[in-house]
Amino acid sequence: MNKKNPREDHIVIVSNRLPFVLKKSEGGNIEVGKGTGGLVTAMAPVLKNRHGTWVGWPGYVQESDTDETMLSAIQSAASGYSVKPVMLTTDEVKNYYEGFSNSILWPLFHDSTDKCLFFPEYWKSYKEVNKKFALTVYRNADDLDFLWVHDYQLILVGGYLREMDIGNRIGFFLHIPFPPIDTFARCPWRFELLSAMLEYDVLGFQTIQDKRNFIGCLASILQHAGIDAKAEVDEAVSELQFDGRTVRIGVFPISIDYHEIILEADKSRGYKGAEEKCGDDRNVNLLGVDRLDYTKGIVEKLKAYQRFLTLFPKLHKKVHFIQLVVPSRGEIAAYVELKLKIEQLVGEINGIFGTADWLPVRYMFRPLDSTELISLYRASEIAFIGSLKDGMNLVAKEYCACNIDEKGVLILSEFAGAAQQFYQDAILINPHDIEGTAMAIYRAFTMPLEERSLRMRNLRENVKNRDVFWWLDSFFNAAIVKS
Ligand code: UDP
Repeated sequence: MNKKNPREDHIVIVSNRLPFVLKKSEGGNIEVGKGTGGLVTAMAPVLKNRHGTWVGWPGYVQESDTDETMLSAIQSAASGYSVKPVMLTTDEVKNYYEGFSNSILWPLFHDSTDKCLFFPEYWKSYKEVNKKFALTVYRNADDLDFLWVHDYQLILVGGYLREMDIGNRIGFFLHIPFPPIDTFARCPWRFELLSAMLEYDVLGFQTIQDKRNFIGCLASILQHAGIDAKAEVDEAVSELQFDGRTVRIGVFPISIDYHEIILEADKSRGYKGAEEKCGDDRNVNLLGVDRLDYTKGIVEKLKAYQRFLTLFPKLHKKVHFIQLVVPSRGEIAAYVELKLKIEQLVGEINGIFGTADWLPVRYMFRPLDSTELISLYRASEIAFIGSLKDGMNLVAKEYCACNIDEKGVLILSEFAGAAQQFYQDAILINPHDIEGTAMAIYRAFTMPLEERSLRMRNLRENVKNRDVFWWLDSFFNAAIVKS
């Protein structure tokens, strides 16, 4: 197959969701909202200065005829690029999205195999929907477009494009972690998934550990099947020879548009006089921002905070834990149960420790727009991220970027991808260690201003030097063959 180098300014992004959400109200009006989540945050600036096409699902179900009003609402929601929607039926949402994507791959790749439902009908639907995405790309891509497929919902798209004889260069970026062999090997479709990943020209992972796990799985599973697929782990971008082709495998930690977010943060109000008082007299907001997900460790954070309140009664009324939970995947039983558990624990903590003038946990269950979110970041002296497993965690990066006064502290789980970048300047926690996490909150509260400033300056420098455009350039450098 004759592969041409793509034009860097022309790309087709393929992701499960488009970067906005469309809903039809009961009165028949169409409401367009911004999508949330790390993928949307990172990809939105990518198409800003490029001509491109975004292929994805607009988030509503369509059983039969195309709804022209919806289609024109979709196109008008996108500025500067064209949108090619892939419509899903109720069955496809159930089996491909809630099923294979979020009840098999998501828990499998996040170390939660107890939640995997290995149903063959999920696999069947996953294949069909991936083919449907590939067909939309096939119909809309030009010869010189770089085709960039995103995330675990669409692993098979590259392979189907090859079957359709597409000669373009195709890249794949995995936004979530890649599991170690002991975990991955449990998947009944492990061989098909791995082989499909080798159909891409370039594969991107968030961390060196993810890349190491992937290469470990290749070595074990493919070589078991008599296929030779070896690559060096430690190279920045490794090259693997497979089936007469070269597959490049690299680590590209995803990031944010640093300059854009600090412009917004500048406009937002700053700390509410928190620094006017010193030491134990300060009033401090401890902030958690998480999608409703069992991987985010929200229950463990609440338990650690409860332990902190038990250990340090003198700090009651001085610390306010603001926990924002963004609704997500509400149709899946594990998520419904999690919500109940979180709300029960919030009630318990407020019931035990709260007073007439102090609510220990302020809990919100809704998405915020970026202005509200940035103002929360700015009003919080400590960010509290306790993921049990997380591809990157852009909230960590956004919090640091918005910390213009450089007085905040980042408490960060060692199991978030961001920890590989921030391990020197964040307070790292093992979220399973409730006692240790309670002590980390105390350490963050009592950290001297000088130390906080030094650490936060380093964290912000780190985000600034490796922003989303750096991420994009590194991926493109790997994707393009130098002649
Ligand atoms: N976010 C948002 N509104 C909210 C809460 C979060 O738009 O109310 C955004 C946030 O700015 C961040 C993303 O959602 O960019 C969350 O990304 P992260 O990588 O932390 O987690 P993910 O949800 O992708 O697992």
